[in-house]
Amino acid sequence: VSAMEHHSNIVPWQMLCEKTGATLRVIPMNENGELILSEYEKLLSDKTKIVTVNHISNALGTINPIKYMIDKAHEFGAAILIDGAQAVPHLKPDVQELDCDFYVFSGHKMCGPTGTGILYGKEAWLNKLPPYQGGGEMIKEVTFEKTTYADLPHKFEAGTPNIAGGIVLGTAVDYLNSIGFDNIQKQELELVEYGTKRLLEIEGLRIFGTAKEKTSVISFNIEGIHPYDIGTIIDKLGIAVRTGHHCAQPVMEFFNIPGTIRASFAFYNTKEEIDVMVEAVKKAQLMLS
Ligand SMILES: *Cc1c(COP(=O)(O)O)cnc(C)c1O
Repeated sequence: VSAMEHHSNIVPWQMLCEKTGATLRVIPMNENGELILSEYEKLLSDKTKIVTVNHISNALGTINPIKYMIDKAHEFGAAILIDGAQAVPHLKPDVQELDCDFYVFSGHKMCGPTGTGILYGKEAWLNKLPPYQGGGEMIKEVTFEKTTYADLPHKFEAGTPNIAGGIVLGTAVDYLNSIGFDNIQKQELELVEYGTKRLLEIEGLRIFGTAKEKTSVISFNIEGIHPYDIGTIIDKLGIAVRTGHHCAQPVMEFFNIPGTIRASFAFYNTKEEIDVMVEAVKKAQLMLS
């Protein structure tokens, strides 16, 4: 795993290690919030079973060089799973071109409903993997002596699924496609450039996550003020940011901070809104210092 994973891409692997005796190794990052690829390569060996990394970091905005990382993992015969939860609202990954073994993401990060998500896996892997839940719909034939399992994807879909959620997630995908990811990226790039420039006007403000390849997320702190205090005050002024560790405590530990204030821009945001946010942050800073 990488040093900038969401807890949801750390904890399950720790549980698996406990169960199997596997060892968890961590790909380190630098001060800009970029993975150190030479260290990644040093960690790979013929003992590496699976690599996992997020496509985009939710805490820092870094876009990781996953194509390179996928190819490297494959050189050592390791499978690789990409956590695309933060990538799918911003760009259009081509899983076949990437050649990743697995690509996973949540519906609720891309205008879809909570409790939905996608696991893409190469067919060969999915055929090889056993079902993880038993029940109706996932079987071919059931007798008391022996049960055989249904073909893909039903093998992994025991019971009555979240039908309504699945339909709404499909609608969300259609909606994003109707706007077009080229348009989305163009708008978001403008917003992150503008937002970075405007926020850096504030004295004592530091941005965490300054990777060359970065999406429209700005994580920041203001010297001497707890992120939660800024977040609470600007919330009262109508600005919705997230504060805290962003379910990425190891990232906070790396920077030795309790958390950050995170402004994340989407295609529906505007520069005018950024101006309002910057004024609100300045006001909060004045009140708190
Ligand atoms: C939100 C998020 C997750 C977790 O997804 P949930 O569906 O909310 O559990 C995993 N990884 C990243 C990068 C995320 O941003």
